[in-house]
Amino acid sequence: MEANPTSFASQILSWYHQHGRKTLPWQHNRTPYRVWLSEVMLQQTQVATVIPYFERFTERFPTLTDLANADIDEVLHLWTGLGYYARGRNLHKCAQVIRDQHNGEFPTDIDTVMSLPGIGRSTAGAILSLSLNQPHAILDGNVKRVLARHNTIDGWYGVKAVENKLWQVAIANSPSTEIQPYNQAMMDMGAMICTRTKPKCDRCPVAASCQARLTHRIADFPGKKPKKDKPAKRGMLLVLLHDNQIYLEKRPPSGIWGGLWCMPQFDNDTALERYLANLPLAAEPEPLAAFRHTFSHYHLDIEPMVALLTHKPNRVAEQQGDWYALGEQHSIGLAAATEKILAQL
Ligand code: SF4
Repeated sequence: MEANPTSFASQILSWYHQHGRKTLPWQHNRTPYRVWLSEVMLQQTQVATVIPYFERFTERFPTLTDLANADIDEVLHLWTGLGYYARGRNLHKCAQVIRDQHNGEFPTDIDTVMSLPGIGRSTAGAILSLSLNQPHAILDGNVKRVLARHNTIDGWYGVKAVENKLWQVAIANSPSTEIQPYNQAMMDMGAMICTRTKPKCDRCPVAASCQARLTHRIADFPGKKPKKDKPAKRGMLLVLLHDNQIYLEKRPPSGIWGGLWCMPQFDNDTALERYLANLPLAAEPEPLAAFRHTFSHYHLDIEPMVALLTHKPNRVAEQQGDWYALGEQHSIGLAAATEKILAQL
């Protein structure tokens, strides 16, 4: 049984007016640009982590055109530590599309917003409802969890039919006015009350109609993703050093650590040996502590090797590479593994 939409929305709104978040940095001067930045940063990331990144970004790139005109290395440098770097690359690409195809003005039509790089239906709805109060429903991870529990919607969100059902409920529950505070309230509800573990049902404004609570099945919602064992791959990262400088290469834009700077990587000993044969080695390469880095689809078992060179070769490889002084800050985005290995040097 679904809740009466009017009463669900009004209970959520009155809770928000008393307890919701109203002083987050992106809640001042709500422009589509600032809300878009915050929404992209908040994907898979907590509010407290995002705040300093948002402040640095908006200080450095006060307008969308400033972001579009920036060098991608600088954008990824400011993104370093937020993770999921495809978001940072898409942000930059999207800003360039808006600069070039929409005169630098963020579009205000939902279909156009959804056609931009890295912006799905929920993010588009959030941008336009939170900045312009346009009547669009949202369905981010927090909202999905609240609705799946409140309406006992079975199954994993990754299944299209489950997602469609959640959209239907999200739309049916949305009020016709006050969409901006309502959408903010739903995100806050998921983040503060209907949390992933230990939801605070005693403080929940819709507890009386929550089907999962009434049937004692809260732990069953949201439905879990079917488990698959991740494969493990081997990755040897070669740390080339000369005169207190390290050689780093910029990774291709797609694939793991796309657009970030990293040591040359090899999948097997033969490839590594072949590469080393062309370098002026001062001594046999030495291993550093190995570690595992987990991506969404596999584990990468990283074996770093350090090689000292007698001099810098004219050209190390075909890739776009450069030498960087160790121990100094550089305005480039570093792959997570690069940062971890640098910390060992
Ligand atoms: S009653 Fe509990 S489980 Fe149900 S929506 Fe509220 S916090 Fe979530």
